[in-house]
Amino acid sequence: PVPPTPLHVAVAGGGIGGLAAALATARAGHRVTLVERAARFGEIGAGLQLAPNASLALDELGVLPAVRRTAVTPPRLVMMDALTGDEVTSLDLRAAAYTARFAHPYLVTHRTDLHAALLAACQEHPGVTLRTGHTVTGAEQDGSAVRLRFREGHPALTADAAVAADGLHSRLRRALVGDGEPVCSRYVAFRGALPAARMSGRMSRHAASEAVMVWAGPRMHLVQYPLRRGELYNQVAVFESDRWTPDSDDWGTEAELEERFAGACEAVRDALPLVSRDRRWPLYDRLPTDSWAHGRIALLGDAAHPMLQYLAQGACQALEDAVALGHALGEHADPARAFTAYADRRRERAARVQTGARRFGELCHLEGMGATLRNMLLASRGPEAFDDISWVWTPAPVPVP
Ligand code: FAD
Repeated sequence: PVPPTPLHVAVAGGGIGGLAAALATARAGHRVTLVERAARFGEIGAGLQLAPNASLALDELGVLPAVRRTAVTPPRLVMMDALTGDEVTSLDLRAAAYTARFAHPYLVTHRTDLHAALLAACQEHPGVTLRTGHTVTGAEQDGSAVRLRFREGHPALTADAAVAADGLHSRLRRALVGDGEPVCSRYVAFRGALPAARMSGRMSRHAASEAVMVWAGPRMHLVQYPLRRGELYNQVAVFESDRWTPDSDDWGTEAELEERFAGACEAVRDALPLVSRDRRWPLYDRLPTDSWAHGRIALLGDAAHPMLQYLAQGACQALEDAVALGHALGEHADPARAFTAYADRRRERAARVQTGARRFGELCHLEGMGATLRNMLLASRGPEAFDDISWVWTPAPVPVP
């Protein structure tokens, strides 16, 4: 139901979370101004796994058909042992047990394609205004409005409410929650997509299978999957650095990448030269906070719940946030009440996924006897054993008001 008086809602940040939040808010009948600090909207050249909770959210936002035009529907999620090259376990994403449990598909997509689909939907919605080159430096609020200030000297933006979707290093979160800097995991990722035709020999067999491959090894792993109708292949190599220091960037280097993966099986070693080295991504998260709603300002996406990527859920949770935000803003005329309802609905689940991601990372990076036991345990499960992952892939039901 559209509330009696449409609000003007400012959204800070035009990543996947911010665009989805803008779209959900506009679809709930409100007017949105989204401000992004970059000169142009965009995402990086790598892939994203979208579990069925995310494709449900995309469906609710009306953009699932656009995303599906280029996304790949992988048949399997496979965990391999990165040292022996043996398959540890797999999940069959085309099994009857999958469709019985999850009404929506498991997708892998190029980040640019998902971002472009959300951007196009925002551009087409008359309720959304988009502004680039606007870096939010701070926000003030009173009982009736929020004012966002910008580094570039643009006039302040006054709105009825604001959503902070400004990512891992959120400026607004820093001011509102006050829980310091994100936590560095001492792991780093090298990642990127390349033309699938470049995967030759043994590698091309994995690429052609269209499966999501996770090669788990001691304090390192490699993830591979196809993108954009299978034309591209995404590779993400992740490892823990022994050279981390808090005040330097000289850790998690390319040389360490080579060192850490030197003992891997041939399939992983063959793939490593084709892992993009353009940029290294230190991996951060935070401990969960209860503090998502601050009067007329709410946190969303990585600004609310930055998590390690081991459950492949950061963007999925941001999409769930956006849908919940839209529902709340459709139900409550007072934005502060809507934000409290949104936070109540989301924070427990997001916190569970956030802490679960750390645990899954530990499982993935076990060495020695730990890895042997993990492999034995996981091998005892069949490809239709969705019980353990089902809570992650299923959003909490919408409460009846
Ligand atoms: P961001 O993408 O960080 O967007 C924030 C936006 O705000 C940016 O556009 C930024 O320019 C803008 N901004 C920042 N500060 C300001 C400011 N002061 N003023 C205005 N604008 C500002 N998630 C998945 O669901 N599946 C996966 O498979 C997956 N794989 C991952 C693999 C790796 C290696 C990593 C590191 C992450 C992965 N994630 C995955 C997580 C996912 O990338 C993030 O959770 C998601 O992109 C967060 O989106 P966001 O919009 O909240 O933040």
